[in-house]
Amino acid sequence: MGAPEVIERGLAVIGGGPAGLAAAIAAKEAGADVVLIERDRILGGILNQCIHDGFGLHRFGEALSGPEYAGRFIDRQRELGIPVMRNTIVLKLSRDRRLLTSQAGRLTEIRAGAVVLATGCRERPRGALSIPGHRPSGVYTAGAAQSFVNMENIMPGKRVCILGSGDIGLIMARRMTLEGAKVEAVFEIMPWSGGLPRNIRQCLSDYGIPLFLSTTIVGVSGMGRLEGVTAARVDERGQPVKGTERFFPCDTLLLSVGLIPENELAREAGIALDPLTGGALADENCMTDAEGIFSCGNALHVHDLADMASEEAERAGRCAAAYVSGGPLSPGGPSVEIRPGLNVRYVVPGRVSLPGASRGRDGVALAFRVTAPRREAVVRITGGDVTVREERYPRLHPAEMVWTRLRGEDLGGLEKRVRALEVNVL
Ligand SMILES: Cc1cc2nc3c(=O)[nH]c(=O)nc-3n(C[C@H](O)[C@H](O)[C@H](O)COP(=O)(O)OP(=O)(O)OC[C@H]3O[C@@H](n4cnc5c(N)ncnc54)[C@H](O)[C@@H]3O)c2cc1C
Repeated sequence: MGAPEVIERGLAVIGGGPAGLAAAIAAKEAGADVVLIERDRILGGILNQCIHDGFGLHRFGEALSGPEYAGRFIDRQRELGIPVMRNTIVLKLSRDRRLLTSQAGRLTEIRAGAVVLATGCRERPRGALSIPGHRPSGVYTAGAAQSFVNMENIMPGKRVCILGSGDIGLIMARRMTLEGAKVEAVFEIMPWSGGLPRNIRQCLSDYGIPLFLSTTIVGVSGMGRLEGVTAARVDERGQPVKGTERFFPCDTLLLSVGLIPENELAREAGIALDPLTGGALADENCMTDAEGIFSCGNALHVHDLADMASEEAERAGRCAAAYVSGGPLSPGGPSVEIRPGLNVRYVVPGRVSLPGASRGRDGVALAFRVTAPRREAVVRITGGDVTVREERYPRLHPAEMVWTRLRGEDLGGLEKRVRALEVNVL
C-alpha cells in the first residue's frame, strides 16, 4: 500500500449521526470549510435503526421517527453543500489534528485546522457482564437485535427475555411484541428502571410486559440455542438472594445494560477522558484538553434524547469554526473545575472558564445525572462554602439527564475565591 494522499481542511467532523450532522451544519453556517466523515454508507448514525417515533419533540415540537429526524439535518447538509466522505473510517487521530482515514482500503491523511469527535457510543456487550451458565446462541445486545429487525428484516427469536431496562431494551420489548414475538419479562438489577418513564409506559405497561426490578439473571441454559434463563431477586448490595430463583423459558435474551462512549480515537491521541462519563474531559466550548479537538453527542456523554445531542453539537461546531478562524473562542482567564457532589453521578462539562460563563445572556449549559430517584429535590451548586446557584425540582431520575445553566451573575468575583464548583442534589 502506497503513502496516503494528503489533504487539508478547515474542520473535520468525525461521525455522521445527529451530533456530527448538527456540528457540521453549525460550523458551515459560521463560515468554516467543513468535511463530514462517516464510516457507514449513509448518514444518520444510530437513528437509521430507530424507526419508532419520539425524536424531535424538543427541537421541532413534533414526534418524528429517527430517520425523519436525521432527514431534516441531511436536507440542510445538502442545501449547504457540506462535503461528506461516506464509507470512510477514521483509523487514527493525533493531537496535532492529523487524521488517517480509509475508504475501501485507500488511505488519506487529512490535516485539519480543528476536529469534532462525534463518534457516538457502543453497547456494553455480554462479555462485560458476568452471567453464569452456558454460552448458547440467541444472546444479543438490544441494539444489534434492533438492527436485525428494523434494517435487515430478520427476527432474532420468538420468545424473549430482556436484561436491563435501558431505553433500547424497552423499545425492543415493544418492537419484538409488534413483530409477533412473546416478551416474557424485563429484568432490572436496580430498584428503579434505567429507561425514560415515557418508555416504561409506552413500551411495557401498554403491552402488559412485566418489569422485575431488583432482579438479575443468574443462569443461562441451552447448549446450542438458548433454552431459558434463571432470574433471582437481589439484595440492597446487588447480590442474588438464595431461594428466589425462577426459570423463564426463552430462545432469545436481549441485553440492554448500558452504552459506552466510543472514544478509541481520543484515547489513542492521548486526550484526557472522564472516568465517570467515558467521554473526553471537555470545557464549556466542548473542547478537549487537545487544542482544537472538540467532542459532542454520545461520544462526549450518553444523551437520553437526540435533540439534546444536536443542541450540544451545534455549540461544538460553532466553537470549532471560531477556533479555525482564530476568532474569540474563549476569552481565556481563570477557569473552575466542575465536579459531581452529593448524589450526582457525573456532570458535564468538567471545566468552565469564568469569563466564558459570564459571556452572553445564556451563560454555560451544565448537564448532570443523579445517582438515585429523588422527589422535591434541591440542586445546589457550591464553590467551597459559597452557594452560587440553587434550584428546586419536583422529581429527578437517573434515567433523565438534568440540564441547568451557570450564568454570569452566579459567578461574579468567584475566581478570587474558588478553584472548583460542586453540583449537589439534596
Ligand atoms: C436504540 C436507541 C433508541 C433511541 N431512542 C431515542 C428516542 O426515542 N428519542 C430520542 O430523542 N433519542 C433516542 N435515542 C438517543 C439518540 O439516538 C442519541 O442520543 C443520538 O443518536 C446520539 O447521536 P450521535 O451523533 O452522538 O451518535 P450516533 O447516532 O451513534 O452517530 C455516531 C456516528 O459516528 C460514526 N463513527 C463512529 N466512529 C467512526 C469512525 N472512526 N470513523 C467514521 N465514522 C465513525 C458512526 O458510524 C455513527 O454514524 C435512542 C438511542 C438508541 C441507541
